[in-house]
Amino acid sequence: MSELHRFLFEGLAVRGILVRLDDGWQSLLARRASAGAAWPEPVQRLAGEMAAAGVLMHATIKWNGALILQVYGDGPVRLAVAEVGADLTYRVTAKVEAPVADDAGLEAMLNVHGKGRCAVTLDTPDRQPGQQPYQGVVPLHDDEGRPLQAIGSVLEHYMLQSEQLDTRLVLAADGRVAAGLLIQRLPPARGAREDDIGRDEGYNRISHLVATLGRDELLALDAEALLHRLFWQEPLRRFEPVAGLQAPRFACTCSAAKVASMLRALGRAEAEDIVAEQGAVTVSCEFCAATYRFDAVDVAELDIPVEAQAPGTPTIN
Ligand SMILES: [Zn+2]
Repeated sequence: MSELHRFLFEGLAVRGILVRLDDGWQSLLARRASAGAAWPEPVQRLAGEMAAAGVLMHATIKWNGALILQVYGDGPVRLAVAEVGADLTYRVTAKVEAPVADDAGLEAMLNVHGKGRCAVTLDTPDRQPGQQPYQGVVPLHDDEGRPLQAIGSVLEHYMLQSEQLDTRLVLAADGRVAAGLLIQRLPPARGAREDDIGRDEGYNRISHLVATLGRDELLALDAEALLHRLFWQEPLRRFEPVAGLQAPRFACTCSAAKVASMLRALGRAEAEDIVAEQGAVTVSCEFCAATYRFDAVDVAELDIPVEAQAPGTPTIN
């Protein structure tokens, strides 16, 4: 079962969150595989790491809307997206346009000519038309212009630049589990005169411990074993794990009704042309690989207006 663990280092003003996504992650991959849409291994890893990172980042903020993590660029992978809702439901997709080498990192996948970017968007559930969501964008390279190879490094950079928060993020994913550990220095209380040297020492020590965590360990160890292995000498205060029904879980928001409104926006002639040519309009969701099929009878029942509607943004998801 997927789970999320929050903890604090007492007296150090450092917090941590550990997430493990397993059952939902496995079923997402199984759905893709049975739809013939399995990702190459490096893309699967990126998608899993982004899902884990998105859940961790949403868990650090009080926000009732979606957090959307996007990386886009100019390599064989055009785009990868992870969306996380306030209830920690997540979904993830990637657009792969050319073969991806088995050992490809972020640079080879998305940042071949240095044009890759990472965007973090906070979307409100009740956003008015024309109202822009909050968005922060960072490049996929460090301050010296060296390309970053892992999405975790990009997001550490984002947290420092956009939120002024020192953050350590270790991420890993394979076909079984997508996991992440986040350690963050809490901002000083307003007006408080902090012992800066003490604060730095504490955070630096925790940060060094986190740096010893290997990808394989993060994937293999359960929460108890992992936290003990890293922090057994630290004043760790654990909170009740978020598990069971409240745990992060895979969920998609696509529906037949959304496909129907997309067909209405397309217009009757266009929809009927597709049915005439292909026997049905078939649309697959890029997030969950669900397929929606509208044959001639279904299309007729939709009673699509003859004229295409004004271009809006109906999508199936
Ligand atoms: Zn879907």
